[in-house]
Amino acid sequence: MLSPRSVNIKSVRFLVFTALVIFCVMLGLKLMVNLPDPGIYSALDDSKMVSTQLRQLRAQVGRLKILLAKNGIANPYENLESLPTIFAITPTHTRPLQKAELTRISQTFLLIPNFHWIIVEDAETRTPLVTNLLAQSGLSYTHLNAETPKEWKLLLEDPQWKKPRGVKQRNAALQWLRNHADPRKPAVVFFADDDNTYSLELFEEMRNTKTVSVWPVGLVGNVRFERPILDEHDKVANWSTGWRPERPFAIDMAGFAINLKLLLDNPDAEFSFDAPRGYQESTILGAVVTKENLEPKASKCTKVYVWHTRTENPKLNDVKGKVPGMVVDWTVEV
Ligand code: UDP
Ligand code: MN
Repeated sequence: MLSPRSVNIKSVRFLVFTALVIFCVMLGLKLMVNLPDPGIYSALDDSKMVSTQLRQLRAQVGRLKILLAKNGIANPYENLESLPTIFAITPTHTRPLQKAELTRISQTFLLIPNFHWIIVEDAETRTPLVTNLLAQSGLSYTHLNAETPKEWKLLLEDPQWKKPRGVKQRNAALQWLRNHADPRKPAVVFFADDDNTYSLELFEEMRNTKTVSVWPVGLVGNVRFERPILDEHDKVANWSTGWRPERPFAIDMAGFAINLKLLLDNPDAEFSFDAPRGYQESTILGAVVTKENLEPKASKCTKVYVWHTRTENPKLNDVKGKVPGMVVDWTVEV
C-alpha cells in the first residue's frame, strides 16, 4: 500500500516535471518565433557587430537545447523548413586533448540553428567518451566509426603531414549522407575538423551555398591566412596560399562547403588515400565543381571566420609515472 504521503510526493514530482516540459516547449516556441531571419546575418553591415540582444538570444537557445536533451525532449528548432540544414562532418580520434576539443566545438555548434553533426571516430568501435559527450550535447547528431587502415595510421613518431588524416572517416560520413539524407531538402556539407576554431558567422555564410562556397582560412599553410583571389567579376581566379598554389583547388579543408545535392548527384566523389599530399581538397572538389562555379563568401573573401588552429599536445608526467607519489586516477574522464 502506498501511503498518502508518497502519493503526494509522486504527484508533486509529476507536476514539477510537467511544468518543466511545458516551460521548455513554450520557451522553445517563443525563441523560435524570435529567431533572427537567416538573411539578417548577410544583411548586416560588416562594420557592425552582431547586436548584444542577438548574442543573448543565441546563448538562451544553447542553454535550452541542453535542457531539452537532459529531459529527453525533442528539440523544437531542428528542421526549420525555411532554413537549409548544415551537415558538419568531423573525424575524431582518441587522445588526451579529444574531450577538450570536442567540448569546445560542440558548444559553438549549439548556437547554430538547423545543424546536424556527423561525428566519425577513427576507432574500431564507438567510444563511451564520445557517446556520452554527444548524448549530453543538446545537438542533433549522427555518431559513426570508421577505423583508418593500419598502413595509413599515423605513428607517434611520424610528422603530421606524412599521411593523410580523416580520409576514411569523411568518406564514411559521405556514405551515410548518401544513404540517409533527404535529397529534396536543401542542405550544405562542411568538413569541420575537431581542432579548428569556428566563428558563428561562418555557418550563416555557407548556409545558402548553391554549388560550392569558398572563403579565407586563418593561420594555415604557415601564413597568416589563405584565401581565394577574385577577378574583376568577383569569381575565383587564383589562390593565395603558403604552399603549392598550383593545386586545382589550393584551399584548406575548412575553406569550403558543398551543396548536398552535388554530393548526391556525384556518388563517386570522395577522399582518397592515393591523392598526393595536399590534394585531398582538390580530389573531392574536382569531382563536384569547376573553379568557375565557386561562390566566394565572407565579404568577397576579405574576412576570416575560421582558423586552422592546432592545440599543443600536453605533456603528462603523471601518466608517464614521473610524478613521485601520484597515482593516476583513470576513473575520472578528462
Ligand atoms: N584524425 C583522425 N585520425 C587520426 C588523426 C586525425 O581521425 O589518426 C582527425 C582529427 O581528429 C581531425 C582531422 O582528422 O578532426 C584532421 O586531423 P589533424 O587535425 O590532426 O590534421 P591537420 O590539422 O594537421 O590537418
Ligand atoms: Mn587540425
